[in-house]
Amino acid sequence: MTSNAPILEGDTLKKAQQRELEKVHMRLIGHAISIFSFIVFVFLGFSSYLRDLTGGGNTILSMLGFIALYLLIETIVSFPTSFYYGFIREKRDEMLKQNLSGWLLDQLKETVMGFALIGVLMIALFSAFRTFPTLWFPVALGIITVLFAALLFLSPKLARMRFKSAPLENPELEARVAAVFQKAGVKLTKVSKWVFGDKIKQGNAALIPDGLGSEVLISDTLMASMDAEGIEVVLAHELGHKVHNDIRTGMILSWLTLAAMITAAFFAMNALTGIGGIQGATDIAALPILLFIFSIMGEITGLYRNAIVRKAEYAADKYALEQTQNFPAFERAFRSLAKDNLSDPNPPEWIEFWLHDHPSIEKRIAAARAWAKTG
Ligand SMILES: [Zn+2]
Repeated sequence: MTSNAPILEGDTLKKAQQRELEKVHMRLIGHAISIFSFIVFVFLGFSSYLRDLTGGGNTILSMLGFIALYLLIETIVSFPTSFYYGFIREKRDEMLKQNLSGWLLDQLKETVMGFALIGVLMIALFSAFRTFPTLWFPVALGIITVLFAALLFLSPKLARMRFKSAPLENPELEARVAAVFQKAGVKLTKVSKWVFGDKIKQGNAALIPDGLGSEVLISDTLMASMDAEGIEVVLAHELGHKVHNDIRTGMILSWLTLAAMITAAFFAMNALTGIGGIQGATDIAALPILLFIFSIMGEITGLYRNAIVRKAEYAADKYALEQTQNFPAFERAFRSLAKDNLSDPNPPEWIEFWLHDHPSIEKRIAAARAWAKTG
């Protein structure tokens, strides 16, 4: 393959471009639903009606009832969108290999997991607002710190929630991975195969924190479409994130963002006291206000976050090239990823700015080519 050949062409390129626009549609529909439900729940008083229906929100059980019912309604309202973009579209583009019942079962598992996570967080937060009227802020910081620690601790399990892992059964690749890790000075605990192939077409690889070291997961789909040198480049890139402490930076950034969101939501909930029968931040019926503030602030802070992550991606690419000294394998790997994941190699600038936390593949290959020449 020559460097001048287009990364994607013909129908594949058209599909990838279509998917970019669909990302925009999906985001806009999500916001429309969020605004609509804010109006119905808050301004039309549906939230306080629901609170009274579930016991008034003064006990944990009653709060739990409210949260479960609220999340259930939101899930039902947004189901057509999730179904269209998650199933119909993925089937159309031959990205999804699961049948409907398998897909639905996975969705159900993820939804239940999400409910549990949001439920625990919200009950803890609203209890804090209620019990510590002046000290809610440090208590909330404690709560999110515990949440982050739990997520970090659970990350090996969470990574296997939809896609299981299996023994790699490829000693040659395992030896290669071990060599890349040794060169980077990072402790490797285990290399496993990530079983994507019976569910989706996309390929991926990841470094998961495992005690003091890292475990590597390589998807079977990646191994099927990428040569060993390419996989080495991909893992060297992931190691770049590790060596540059990008995972830690990302967590600190998320922690700060969540703290800011909770603070803004607290003041918004109190400012809207009385509207639709909602009684400020101590009232579980104010949950839709909190989640609406989260969604607005998520959109704004996401722009900043994406910009930071895109920069970290270039740095990890540079690290991968320095470690492997193999630009041809880098280019082959990224061309193969674009194909497997149907990624538009050169999306419109505004879409990249708004929605992408990775630079476009065309830009990444161009930057890598420049480094390879000067390095
Ligand atoms: Zn990366």
